[in-house]
Amino acid sequence: MTKTIPDALWGLIGQGVDAIDTPALVIDLDAMERNLQRMVDFTAKHQILWRPHAKMHKSAELARLLMSAGAVGACVQKTSEAEALAAGGVTDLYISNQVIAPAKLARIATLAETLAGRGGWLALAVDSALGIERLAQALQGRRAKVRVLVEIDVGQGRCGVPPGEAVLPLVRQVLACPQLVFGGLQAYHGQAQHLRSPVERRAAIAQAVRAVNLSGEVLQAAGIQTPLITGAGTGTLVLETASGVYGELQAGSFLFMDADYAANERDPAQPQFEHALFVKTQVMSRSAQHAVCDAGHKSHAIDSGLPTVHTWPGEPALRFGNGGDEHGLLYPTQAGQTLPALGQTLWLIPGHCDPTVNLHDFMVGVRGGLKQGTVERIVTVDARGAVG
Ligand code: PLP
Ligand code: MN
Repeated sequence: MTKTIPDALWGLIGQGVDAIDTPALVIDLDAMERNLQRMVDFTAKHQILWRPHAKMHKSAELARLLMSAGAVGACVQKTSEAEALAAGGVTDLYISNQVIAPAKLARIATLAETLAGRGGWLALAVDSALGIERLAQALQGRRAKVRVLVEIDVGQGRCGVPPGEAVLPLVRQVLACPQLVFGGLQAYHGQAQHLRSPVERRAAIAQAVRAVNLSGEVLQAAGIQTPLITGAGTGTLVLETASGVYGELQAGSFLFMDADYAANERDPAQPQFEHALFVKTQVMSRSAQHAVCDAGHKSHAIDSGLPTVHTWPGEPALRFGNGGDEHGLLYPTQAGQTLPALGQTLWLIPGHCDPTVNLHDFMVGVRGGLKQGTVERIVTVDARGAVG
């Protein structure tokens, strides 16, 4: 824990869910632990390593929980995220992203020394000669090595060199630097995660696997072994696993499962992850046509669509409408449906967990369900706002 928990939140521990004021970000701990167990079972069955992405939960406590369940470490996306998690006791971190600014690379060198001193490791993705050169410069005279993964663009159209020949000069450059260790290839296809049908996702990952194989063959022909292929998110992890090519899974969102992932048509091989992250909100105004709750898009991200409203079996659905940054609009979906009353609690399932978590300093962990559960602990969002 690297953030001070206010007294009002400490005071919630042991109290019923009704005591949680709104809007609040709430973890259903039982659902989260079931998701975790599903991932433990899946990775054990398929004998694959997992390094879940902490860009999703941004919490040192959850990164350590995942590692105690068998994850080999945590992925992060930003230098400051790595620093926040290291401050919270995480010792094996992979920044699965490009870092080019010398000032940040100096921080990375310091962090690498800190983690090495604790028996851990820092790893970083690279996709340019300049990036490798600057990283090597930043490490000069430091008591640490950094593991480097060369990123290839396997279809995302974001970072990474084109698959094939372009990897060779970068890998040779890494191998020539005494303070860099060649860790393998970063091969993440983000867009594939959200393709709705399994057929589309299968085609996208088949292309990614071809790109990986092509790159591996180029290295092999030059006498270089590729120690690891790493990538995969929640939407496609079964496919990267089935390829037999990937050695490590980076999926992070499986722990909380957002509404957008639930909208994917499930691959039968995919573990049945459930929603574990909710925004607790309450109705603060009513009209004949709609109810208004106190959670707008300062409480939940809307980049992947509006939240859905959790309902219990037998209850009619409510449709969430955008009421702006501080309000949510709730509409009936059936004729004659009674709208929720003033003060009534509702649980929203965020469209996208990662940027939703980043809007909050704390997550309230509830045990025993959202209806009758009690607050068990407060989870700090240690890397909130860590975007640099
Ligand atoms: N790896 C990288 C490089 C990512 O950018 C992401 C998410 O955007 C992930 C892994 C994890 O994906 P998810 O949280 O959707 O499982
Ligand atoms: Mn995401």
